[in-house]
Amino acid sequence: MFLNRISCHIIWKRGQILEQRFEASIVWLILNGETEKALETLAKHYDVNVPNLKVGLPKGRKIKTLGCYNARNTTISVLNSDVLKEPFVILHEFYHHLRTNADAKHLGTEKYADEFAKKFIQAYNSMKAGRSGNN
Ligand SMILES: [Zn+2]
Repeated sequence: MFLNRISCHIIWKRGQILEQRFEASIVWLILNGETEKALETLAKHYDVNVPNLKVGLPKGRKIKTLGCYNARNTTISVLNSDVLKEPFVILHEFYHHLRTNADAKHLGTEKYADEFAKKFIQAYNSMKAGRSGNN
């Protein structure tokens, strides 16, 4: 019983660290301009189709919009090539893609999209700081 608990704990920790390493590597890819590869890796990880990626926003968008997701053609659009390297924007829009795959009518809330993106960036920052992540 006691031994069982310990091994469970180790497995859980190991899974958590692997997940954090995955999240950090996605952020690294985006920062290095390998955004398409990051989206491919994310899609594989979550078992969904790879979203399309396009530079230039659809017409009629507000000036301040950096990115958007169109569920009809499963396309993530970003304002310009600088935004392609913004992990927060890419991951936020990927979350909408993920939610659409899970439930066609539901894009997920903005709040959850932000939290999803933040989790990846925090993983990247703590890996960079050399911590194994216990916060
Ligand atoms: Zn959004």
